[in-house]
Order: sequence, then C-alpha cells, then structure tokens
Amino acid sequence: MMRSNRDWDRTMATADSLDNLAQIRASVRALCTRFPGEYWRKLDRERDYPTEFVAALTDAGYLAALIPEQFGGSGLTLIEAAAIMEEIHASGGNGAACHAQMYTMGTLLRHGSDAQKAHWLPAIASGELRLQAFGVTEPTSGSDTLSLRTSAVRDGDHFIVNGQKVWTSRAEHSDLMLLLARTTPREQTKSRTGGLSVFLVDMRLAQGTNIRINTIRTMMNHATTEIFFDDLRVPEENLIGQEGEGFRYILSGMNVERILIAAECIGDAKWFIAKATAYAKERNVFGRPIGQNQGVQFPISRAYAQMRAAELMVREAANRFQAGHDCGAEANMAKLLAADASWAAAEMCVQTHGGFGFAEEFDIERKFRETRLYQTAPISTNLILSYVAEHVLGLPRSY
Ligand SMILES: Cc1cc2nc3c(=O)[nH]c(=O)nc-3n(C[C@H](O)[C@H](O)[C@H](O)COP(=O)(O)OP(=O)(O)OC[C@H]3O[C@@H](n4cnc5c(N)ncnc54)[C@H](O)[C@@H]3O)c2cc1C
Repeated sequence: MMRSNRDWDRTMATADSLDNLAQIRASVRALCTRFPGEYWRKLDRERDYPTEFVAALTDAGYLAALIPEQFGGSGLTLIEAAAIMEEIHASGGNGAACHAQMYTMGTLLRHGSDAQKAHWLPAIASGELRLQAFGVTEPTSGSDTLSLRTSAVRDGDHFIVNGQKVWTSRAEHSDLMLLLARTTPREQTKSRTGGLSVFLVDMRLAQGTNIRINTIRTMMNHATTEIFFDDLRVPEENLIGQEGEGFRYILSGMNVERILIAAECIGDAKWFIAKATAYAKERNVFGRPIGQNQGVQFPISRAYAQMRAAELMVREAANRFQAGHDCGAEANMAKLLAADASWAAAEMCVQTHGGFGFAEEFDIERKFRETRLYQTAPISTNLILSYVAEHVLGLPRSY
C-alpha cells in the first residue's frame, strides 16, 4: 500500500486545513470515478474536448477554487487548488483541458480595477464565462516572450490588435482570452521588459471576422490552436492594469500556473506508480510475480522516491505563495522536479508492463504522451535551469 495522501498532507497542514484537504481530495476522486479510462480514451481517439468533465468540475466549484468568495468563487488556498489538480491526474484524468480556468483569472484578480473584477469575476466563477485561453507564445519569438510581435495600437478609446499567437490552448472552448501584446515598440521603451500590455479579449463577437483560430493536432489530446488577429478592436476598459506593465503582470501569474501544473505532474506520477505496483504484484512470469525481481522493484521504488521529493518542493512553493513570500525559485523548481518525476514514472510504468504498456486499453501510453508535455510547457526545462542559474545561483545571464 502506498502511503495515503493524508499522511503526506500532515507534514504541511494544521488540523482544520488537513480535514478540508482530505475532504477536497475525497470529493474530487469521487467526481473522477464518473469519468473512467474509457471516457478519456474515446476523447483521445477522437481528439475531442471533455465537455462533460469540465462542466462537472465547474458545477462543483473546483475551477473557481482561487476566486475569492466575494466574487462568487470557492475562496480556497493554492494548496487546496493544487490538491484538486493532483487528484484529477492521480485518478487517470487530464486537467489540462481546463486548468487555465483556475489560474488565468489571477492576473485580473491581482492587477484589474475594482470595476473589472466586479464585472468579470462572478461570471468566470460560475463558469458562465470561460477564461481558458492564454495568448502569450508566438511562432517567431518562442520562449523569448519579450520579442513578441503582436501589436495593440491605441485608436481613441480602443486598441487595434494585429498579429499571431501559437499554442493558444482551449481557445475554441473559451469566451475570453488573456492576451499579451506590444503597445510600445521595443526600441521606444525605457526598460527591457516595458511596452507590453495585457488585455482581456472577448472572443465571442470577433471569431471568424477579426479572430481566426486553427486547431493544431498534437501527440496528445490538448485542444490547442494558432490564432490570427486582424484589426481586432479591444475597448480600453479591457486593458488590465497600466499600459506597458503587462510583462510584470503575466510573470506574477506564472508562479501559480507552475505550481498547479507541478501538482498535476505529481498526480500523474502517483497514477503511474500505483499502476506499476499493482501490475508487478499480479503479473506472474517464470512462476513468480515480476515484482519479486529487484530489477523490476527498484525502478518503481526510485520513481516513488523521486515523486515524494518533488512533492515536497511543490508544497514548499505553494506554502510560500500562500504566506505571501516570494516563490519564484520554488515554483520553477517544483515544476522542473515534478515534470521530471512524472516523466521518469511514466517510463518506468511502460517498462514494468512489458508489451501491455503499449496497449491503448491500459491507458499508460495515453498518460505517457500527456505527461511528456510538461518537459516543454508552460516553460521548458532549459529555461527553468537558466532561471535557477541566474536568479538563485547568481551565474551570468545567458540570454
Ligand atoms: C500542447 C501545448 C500547449 C501550449 N499551451 C500554451 C498556451 O495555452 N498559451 C501559450 O502562450 N503558450 C502555450 N504553449 C507554448 C509553450 O509555452 C512553449 O511551447 C514553450 O514555452 C517553449 O517555447 P517554444 O515552443 O517556442 O520553444 P523555443 O523557445 O523555440 O525553444 C526550443 C528549444 O530550445 C530550448 N531553448 C530556447 N532558448 C534557449 C536558451 N536560451 N537556453 C537553453 N535552451 C533554450 C528550449 O528549452 C526548447 O527545448 C503550449 C505548448 C504546447 C506544446
């Protein structure tokens, strides 16, 4: 038996929050039993969106976990939100279909005006408005966000947006998009990071005319797209915070994104480890369970130890965020270590299952493809390593 999550949670929580966490975990697990492997397999085969699953999470209030109660949200902590995502993944599901609804609104919550928050957050909390799309990455700039080219040029009380984004996930299942665009040409900005602004774009009216969306098929079922903006008019009341400060606002939201996605990786790793452990006990070859061979046991034990270590960093990052401390280094390291742990567990799980690891009906090959993404998105491993080198270790800036 693997240790229970309650044992793991005990290391971090007070008695009250421990009960709350245990309840959240149990109810998310119960919800996920309604969406078993066959559900995800069928969607994966057809590259379809898990509409019913997302609706169930929305109805239960989980996607509004981080929206304060005054705006109609569940007002949970980041530690609790991370437990939700972890449980979805540990149950064999995939929260990537909707995780952005949980955190993308953070930019609005932290940097929006009172009027913007009162206008948008209650509808986002209820799920009436889906804020699932986050438009940062562009084809020519890639990881070098400051080189992005999509422009937003002021025209009276509007901004006119032109350009292209790529890998904008869930855009076809979203009413709103958080968009990062250049409002001042780079050569005219005073600081390296200035001149970018964040907008809340209402995509409902503009689709097909000023916004064109193309689906990108990927190795896993991810509902990701490329988007073209052609003279899209965005009212100035949809500018979040101050013009030119957008990069800073986006960065402040990225810690939460990294921590939640790291929690998903921890959930994936737990799923792979549980699956491999069960199979190693029941599969008999040469007249004994394969799990009796140390050559099979050790990779499972190693994956478990690696997952536990990464889990501690995820909790450290979430606790620091919750306490209002700087958590940039911990959030980045949590994402790095958890993505490595889930990828190592995925590899181990395939190997433990022999040929059956490749069979669709075992779900392992699907989860293997799904968890591979987190070596690259939302930030690639190399970029995290260079963050640690520069910001934690004080090594010279490399780019
Ligand atoms: C399925 C999927 C969904 C996504 N969803 C979204 C989304 O919703 N919104 C969004 O904005 N983006 C999204 N992304 C984009 C994602 O954040 C980027 O793919 C990621 O940040 C890497 O950028 P890139 O693909 O342009 O790679 P590049 O920047 O071109 O990098 C390519 C490789 O070179 C390495 N590299 C680049 N520069 C350096 C350097 N200086 N030092 C060392 N190594 C370097 C990188 O680590 C990487 O391995 C998604 C991507 C995928 C695949």
